[in-house]
Amino acid sequence: MLTLDAIEMREIRLPLKQPFRTASGVQDSRRILLLEITARTGETAWSECVAQETPRYSPETIDTAWFAIREWFVPALRGCALAAPSDVLARLAVFRGHRMAKAALEMACWNLAAQQAGVSLAALLGGVRRRVPVGIAIGVQPEERLLVERVRERLAQGYRNVKIKIGPTADARFVEAVRAAFGPDIPLSVDANASYTLADIELLRALDGYGLTMIEQPLAHDDLVRHADLQEQLATPICLDESITGPDRAEDMVRLRSGRIVNVKPGRVGGLSAALSIHALCQKHGLDAWVGGMLETGIGRAYNAALASLPGFTLPGDLAPGSRYWAQDIVRPAWTMSPDGFVEPPFEQPGLGVEADRDRIARLTHRSERLAL
Ligand SMILES: [Mg+2]
Repeated sequence: MLTLDAIEMREIRLPLKQPFRTASGVQDSRRILLLEITARTGETAWSECVAQETPRYSPETIDTAWFAIREWFVPALRGCALAAPSDVLARLAVFRGHRMAKAALEMACWNLAAQQAGVSLAALLGGVRRRVPVGIAIGVQPEERLLVERVRERLAQGYRNVKIKIGPTADARFVEAVRAAFGPDIPLSVDANASYTLADIELLRALDGYGLTMIEQPLAHDDLVRHADLQEQLATPICLDESITGPDRAEDMVRLRSGRIVNVKPGRVGGLSAALSIHALCQKHGLDAWVGGMLETGIGRAYNAALASLPGFTLPGDLAPGSRYWAQDIVRPAWTMSPDGFVEPPFEQPGLGVEADRDRIARLTHRSERLAL
C-alpha cells in the first residue's frame, strides 16, 4: 500500500546547448515542471511533466499542469492509500483530459512502488532488454544541404534511426536529398506533426517511394478516420503519435487500420499504466511500437528508458542522451549512449536508477510550491 505524504512542484529553466529560433524569437532555455513526491514510508520520487510552454503539441501547457495538480489532483489524492500506481488514475478519473499532469503524478508513484519493492522501475514494468537502440529526430532545416549535414553528424554518432521533421516548407525534396546522399539502406523516417490533409495526397504518395520506416502523424492531431483512408493508399507504415491519447484510441487505430506503428509517450497517454496497455495491444496485434521523447531532462528520460526495455518496443526509441540538448543535465550519472547507438536502462538499483542533482535543480528553480498529501 502506498500512502503519499507531500509533493513539491518546481518550475526550472534549463539552459539549452544551442538556442533555437522560433517565430516569436530566440529561446535559450526551456521551462520544465518537475515533481518530487514523498511517501509516508520515506521514499522520494522525482518525475517530470512533459507539457510544453505553449499548447502546440497538445492542449496542455506547463501552466495548466501546475494549476490542475494544485487545484484538483492533489486535493483528490489527499489521504488516500494506493494499492497500485494505476490507482492514481482511477482517483483522478472524474477529471477529463490533463493527461500529462496526471502522468507526472502516476509515473512518480511507479517509481515509489519500485523502491518499496526493492526493484528497478524497468524490472517492475516487465522490462527485459538490457540495451535499447536509440533514434534521433532532426528538426526542419532551411535547406536540403543543411539537413544532409545534420544527418551525416547523427549517423556518425551511432544513432540507429534518423527521423526528419517534414512540413509544407520541407517535404519530399528533403527526403530525396537524404536518400541521394546516404543511399537506400540507412533507416529513415519522417514526422509531419499533423501538417498535412488528404488534399496533399499526391505529396504523401511521393513519400511512399523512399523506403521509409514510417511516416509519422501526417494528418490532424486528433484524427483516426482519415489516417485509415491514407494508410490504405500507402505502402509505407503510418505511425501515430498525437492521435493516440490513450489505450482506447490505440484500439480504435487497430480497428480502423489507421496505421501500423505507435509512438508511445507515457506523458501523452496519461502515464505508464496506459503505456503498458498500449504496449500489450501492439504485441497482441503485431504492431510495431517505440518510445517517443518530449525533450525530457535526464529524469523523464529515465522513465522512458525503463519503459523502452519492454519486448514489444520493436523500433529504436527517442532516447538520445541529455548532452544532445542541454548544456548540463540535472541527473547523475549523466545518460550516455554507446558508439553503436544503444542506451542501457538501469536494472541494478531500486527505482529510477539516476539521482536528481538537487544543488543544480535548486539553482535552476524559478518557482516552487510544496503541498501536503
Ligand atoms: Mg511525433
